[in-house]
Amino acid sequence: MSKHILIVEDEAPIREMVRFAVGNAGFEVSEAADAHQAQMAIADRCPDLILLDWMLPGMSGVDLARRLKRGDTTSDVPIIMLTARGEEEHKVKGLEAGADDYVTKPFSPRELVARIKAVLRRVSPEGEDERIEIGGLALDAAGHRVVADGREVHLGPTEYRLLQFFMGHPERVYSRGQLLDRVWGGNVYIEERTVDVHIRRLRKVLAPFGYDRFVQTVRGSGYRFSAQS
Ligand code: CA
Repeated sequence: MSKHILIVEDEAPIREMVRFAVGNAGFEVSEAADAHQAQMAIADRCPDLILLDWMLPGMSGVDLARRLKRGDTTSDVPIIMLTARGEEEHKVKGLEAGADDYVTKPFSPRELVARIKAVLRRVSPEGEDERIEIGGLALDAAGHRVVADGREVHLGPTEYRLLQFFMGHPERVYSRGQLLDRVWGGNVYIEERTVDVHIRRLRKVLAPFGYDRFVQTVRGSGYRFSAQS
C-alpha cells in the first residue's frame, strides 16, 4: 500500500509537475486547487502527507495548515509548505502554524521527493514496509502477513487494515469516526457501527492467541490498541 500525498496548489503547471514527480517516486497523488477542495478531498480520504502551497485563492495555505493541525482527524497528518523564494517570514509562520517542513519554489522534483520521504520517516518511523511487533504479535506490511507467537493469523482485508493502523498507532484512543476516517478513508456512507463489527471480527481472530485483549474498548471514547491491560 503506497502512501497517499495530497497536493494543494492553485497553479496547474506546478501541480502537474508535482503529481508527476511524486507519482514517479511511487506515491499515490491527489490534487486540490484551493483550501475548499483540499478539505473536501481530506474528508473523503485522509492523506498521509499534504503538500500545501502558501499562496492560494481564498483561504491561504497557512490558515488551512492551522485549521488542519487543530482538527481531530488531521492534526497528525504531516504538512510540507511550498513557499516562494525570499519570503523568509513565511517559513517561520508556516512552522509556527504546525507545518512539518517547507520547500522553497522553484524546487527540483528530486528535492521535493527527498523532503517528503524525510518527513514521512520522521512521523512514522515504523514505515509502511517494515515489520511491527507488539507483544508477540507481528505484522509484516511488505509480506502482508500477521503472525502471532510464530503462527500465521488469517485476517480479512478490513481487519488487516484495522490491525495495521492500530499497531502503527498503539496506546492512543481513537473514536469510531477517527477510525472510519483513517482506516476506511472517511467514506460518509459507512455507519459508525461498522467499526464495531470489524473490531469484533478482529478480536475473534486474535482470541485463540489471547491477543484480543490488545484491542481495548474505551468506554464513551472508542478503541485503543495496547499490550498493557
Ligand atoms: Ca499558488
